[in-house]
Amino acid sequence: MKNNLIVKKSNSGFGLYSLAALKKGDLVIEYVGEKITEAEANRRGGKYLFELNHSWSIDGKSRDNLARYLNHSCKPNCYPEIDDDEEHIYIYAKKNIELGEELTYHYGKMYFDELIKKSGCRCQACQKEKSG
Ligand SMILES: [Zn+2]
Repeated sequence: MKNNLIVKKSNSGFGLYSLAALKKGDLVIEYVGEKITEAEANRRGGKYLFELNHSWSIDGKSRDNLARYLNHSCKPNCYPEIDDDEEHIYIYAKKNIELGEELTYHYGKMYFDELIKKSGCRCQACQKEKSG
């Protein structure tokens, strides 16, 4: 599934783009990284931490983790889901996605309030609102 994805420059640094059309519900990519405890996550910090549950997080900062290139959007075309074992994070298509579209998901309210809100959200949906 990684073969159908490409990292490219976007208006907010880099973004992940699909080289194939995707159907709603398709598995796009797994968010991979080192599994660390909550205490370790708090110690490390960083914007690529993804919480599995209250005790564990995935630190997805490695460049091998292509999913780290998915940008936040307030109107995303993907969504993350943690599997039942709370071991893996999968990103699924939220709707049908066309070839060449940038892939995005909503980073969650906490992340948004803490890290995005202050400097203003630069996602496509918010850009449109500003210019419109
Ligand atoms: Zn936004």
